[in-house]
Amino acid sequence: MIFNIEQIRADFPILHQQIYKKPLVYFDNAASTQKPRQVIDAIRQYYEHDNCNIHRGVHYLSVKATEAYEEARKEIRQFINARNTHEIIFTKGATESLNLVASSFGKRYIADGDEVITTIMEHHSNFVPWQQMCLERKARLRIVGIDDQGELNLQELKNMVNEKTRLITLTHVSNVLGTINPVKEIIEYAHLHNIPVLLDGAQGVSHIPVDMQELDCDFYCFSGHKMYAPMGTGVLYGKEKYLEELPPYQLGGEMIKDVYLDHTTFNELPFKFEAGTPNVEGVMGLRAAVAYLTALGMSNIAACEDDLLKYATEKLSGIEGMKFFGTSPQKASVISFLIGDIHPYDAGMIIDKMGIAVRTGHHCAQPLIEFLGIPGTVRASFSFYNTFEEIDRLAEAILKVKQMFA
Ligand code: PLP
Repeated sequence: MIFNIEQIRADFPILHQQIYKKPLVYFDNAASTQKPRQVIDAIRQYYEHDNCNIHRGVHYLSVKATEAYEEARKEIRQFINARNTHEIIFTKGATESLNLVASSFGKRYIADGDEVITTIMEHHSNFVPWQQMCLERKARLRIVGIDDQGELNLQELKNMVNEKTRLITLTHVSNVLGTINPVKEIIEYAHLHNIPVLLDGAQGVSHIPVDMQELDCDFYCFSGHKMYAPMGTGVLYGKEKYLEELPPYQLGGEMIKDVYLDHTTFNELPFKFEAGTPNVEGVMGLRAAVAYLTALGMSNIAACEDDLLKYATEKLSGIEGMKFFGTSPQKASVISFLIGDIHPYDAGMIIDKMGIAVRTGHHCAQPLIEFLGIPGTVRASFSFYNTFEEIDRLAEAILKVKQMFA
């Protein structure tokens, strides 16, 4: 183990409780991670000392809150190594970031007969907005498939690229299969054809180091609550050249420069995309989460979670009748499985009664689940605060499920 696990777990108050008289095991980290005391304290500190609306006042508290909010933007720029601070747009999560791009990019760049490429492994948040935008604009959404290991058919993707392609939009890491997609290769190929690439980083940014300048993607989206920060926070990173060109997504206060009776001029980046009062308290928490992750080191986190993934894969593979979905060697710490023919909901409910939180169902990826021809999966997703002993308990719970259905 890379970290002092006791020390890390001491930072997460919620982990220290009994569920059904058993110590809680939290393996639903892909849905939302728990929050360290440092994040909770940052929110408390904000409300006890600094709370005020931002960007609008000349008085002390307003200036203080504004400065803290803009500092957070700088720290997030640094965390993902974006080139410019104004390329960081605060949103309420990956879903809003993705809707923003689909709506604004669609209006600006997509016309009748154009094509957008996505994949079968997308979360609904990176699928439905593009599907609906394409329907509205009479464009075609093309969908890249996967192989038996849950890896993208890269050649199929490359074959789809043509003079009508306007954008490639795909997940960095699959929330069901755990596959880490070869995004660098895809981006390089797309750029050879002058096609921008959007990455849905909702499952990427909390598990592996991400570097916008190294990846060279054109858009990157993520949610705070999946990276130890508060719910209702998120980020859209976009390259300046695109963000300058895109029309605003929402209209109202703060995103304007001047409003006249018959027209309006819009604010500069990033404010053009941040209409209304933002979630300042949440951003203070996000800032604390980024500081927490930076102190641990994203490479250390990736290595630690990889150890957990390897241990769990070996342990669960030893149980007869287990079926796994997503077996790529390039995987984040997510295991999706079925126990024989037992319905995932039945399995999930029994596992829950043993104090273990796993996810069951389609994981907001119905096209993928349909493609796999299954009713859903049980998903265990690990964080650096999880332990090998907890994985042993999951293995025991799976044996119990098997026994009950024998
Ligand atoms: N994209 C992926 C890959 C996800 O896993 C999720 C959430 O599970 C989302 C997008 C949507 O995130 P949010 O609901 O936080 O907006």
